[in-house]
Amino acid sequence: MSDKPLNEIVNVESVSILMRLLRDFGRNTLPLLGRKVPFIQKQFVAATIVSFREINNQDFQVIVEPRNQVERLLARKDTDINMYENYSLYFNRIAVLLNLQEPNMHGEARLLDPMGNIKNDMGLISSEEYHYTNDIKFLERMKYQFYQSCGRNTEYIICVFSHHVPCTLKTHQCARLINEFSKRTNEFLIVSYEDVFYDTDEDVALNILSHYSRIFCLYPVYFCPPKKSDKNIETYLLPWDEEEEPVCRRISRRVMRAVSNKRFRTEKKKRKSFCRFSKFMDSNVCEEI
Ligand SMILES: [Zn+2]
Repeated sequence: MSDKPLNEIVNVESVSILMRLLRDFGRNTLPLLGRKVPFIQKQFVAATIVSFREINNQDFQVIVEPRNQVERLLARKDTDINMYENYSLYFNRIAVLLNLQEPNMHGEARLLDPMGNIKNDMGLISSEEYHYTNDIKFLERMKYQFYQSCGRNTEYIICVFSHHVPCTLKTHQCARLINEFSKRTNEFLIVSYEDVFYDTDEDVALNILSHYSRIFCLYPVYFCPPKKSDKNIETYLLPWDEEEEPVCRRISRRVMRAVSNKRFRTEKKKRKSFCRFSKFMDSNVCEEI
């Protein structure tokens, strides 16, 4: 199994469903995070780890109970949220991470490099910042809970949905960091996104993320699936999903038409505008910083 690139091992339709579930889960937790932080950003990272069996069998039970918890918390409208800690929410095997201001860390780095070791080796942080970096070890928590439910010898995939494509910003370099993490640890990673931060070069980021066979970067077009796939997703729909569905389908149709006309790759600007979902977000969210 390990010799093949990850995108040949996993079923793309299953990955698309999981990424959409993760995206929606992350989005729906933003109002909860908004009760705990001074202002809420568009940017978030929602991450989980799953086994190959879970992903290929579309067994996404891991997200069901956390979704119920979120629904209950949204209904309660108070600020007593046990899962909240330092600009993050943590549920069983699922983390939603906002960017941190102090120290300045993006969600991808918080998940994969909580102590700043990789960024330090990449020359992205000063020694002072390095000594100050000591974030929550989300990935260790996830692995522990994964082993509890799936067994110690089960291989897993780290799944990361980031609202913005992992960045190419000078001081963060999240795309490079993900690549470096996977090379060092030999871990499997699936990465997806739905928008591009204005200061990130999407092509450069995607190029970096497609260089290593243990990373599978799923383009946004895949999780606005054509109608035939909607049946699978509906099993996991909550009321808030349904409101967005018609818009999502409309965009999907436009993108699929563009692909079939072979204009997709050359008309980058159009592609970007198709994939921008920011208008669906709450109007009070702020840009990534
Ligand atoms: Zn970043």
